Amino acid sequence: SSSSTVVTRFAPSPTGYLHIGGARTALFNWLYAKSRGGKFLIRVEDTDRERSTDDAVKAIFDGLSWLELFGDEDPVFQFARADRHREVAEQLLASGHAYRDYLSAEETGALRDAAKAEGRDFVSPWRDREPSVDDLVKPFTVRFRRPLDTSVLVEDAVQGAVRWDSGSLDDLVILRSDGAPTYNLAVVVDDHDMGVTHVIRGDDHLNNAARQSLIYDALGWTRPTFAHIPLIHGPDGAKLSKRHGAQAVHEYAEMGYLPEAMRNYLARLGWAHGDDELFSDEQAIEWFDLPGIGKAPARLDFDKLAHVNAHW
Ligand code: GLU
Repeated sequence: SSSSTVVTRFAPSPTGYLHIGGARTALFNWLYAKSRGGKFLIRVEDTDRERSTDDAVKAIFDGLSWLELFGDEDPVFQFARADRHREVAEQLLASGHAYRDYLSAEETGALRDAAKAEGRDFVSPWRDREPSVDDLVKPFTVRFRRPLDTSVLVEDAVQGAVRWDSGSLDDLVILRSDGAPTYNLAVVVDDHDMGVTHVIRGDDHLNNAARQSLIYDALGWTRPTFAHIPLIHGPDGAKLSKRHGAQAVHEYAEMGYLPEAMRNYLARLGWAHGDDELFSDEQAIEWFDLPGIGKAPARLDFDKLAHVNAHW
C-alpha cells in the first residue's frame, strides 16, 4: 500500500575494500530511504565462502563508517540465513517451481556444449524426469523451473520497462549439490524477509532482476521496485580502472577528502538536481529521487571533487 514504509538496503559481497561505486550505491540507498522517511539496511552477502573474507567485511564497514552511512538496524549476514534459503528452495520444490537435477558437473558440461553446438538453449533432462530409486541416492542440485514461452517485464525506475524472453534465462541453480544456496535465491529470500521495497544497485545486476522477478512470482511474493544505476566511468569515459586514480574509499580518506564532501560529490555522480553542485545532506535528502538518476554512466571528475572538497 502507499502507506508502507520504504526499506532500502546496501548488499555488498565482502570480497574486497569498499570502492567508490559501492559507496555511491550505498549513498543512493541511504538517501532514498531518508528522503521517504524509511529505513536503510545493510546486508553482507557472504554466501560465497571461498571469496568472502573477514578483512573485507571490516574494510567495507570502515568505509561506510567513514562516510557516516549507518544502517538503521544491525547488519544482516547472509550466510547465517542459509537454512532459511534452503527452506524456501523446499517450498519451490513442493510447488513444482523447482526440480532436483541429478546430472554431474561433467554431464551438465557435455549437454550444455551439445546444445550450444546445435544452437539450442541448454535444459536439463531432469526438468521433466522423475528420479528412480537409484537416482535418489545421487547428489543433486536444485534448479528453478523457469516458465517457458513467456516474457518477464521489469519496470525499472532508472532503465524503464525492460523485457526478457523467459526461455533465454535458463533454469537457474538455486541450491548447489552441497546444499549451499546461490546468489539469486538468497537475495530474493533476504530482500523479502527484510521487507525491502526498493532495490537500488549497479546495472550489472539488471539481468538478475529478471531472474529474481520470476522467483518472486513463483513464491507469490510482491516484487520490490528495482532501480539499476549505471556504473561509474573514469574521466576518459572508459570503465573505471586503477589508472584513473583512487578507487577505494579509504584512499580518498587518506588523501584528505572530507566525508561530507565525498557524500556531496558522490550524490551528484549519476544523479542531478538542476545545476546544483554544492549541497548539504539535508538538501540532498529533500531533493533525492529516482527519476533524477541518469541512464548514462557517470564520469569521475577529480577537479569537481576537489572543488566540492574545498567548499567543505
Ligand atoms: N552482493 C551483490 C554485489 O556485491 C549485490 C547484490 C544486490 O544488490 O542485489 O554485487
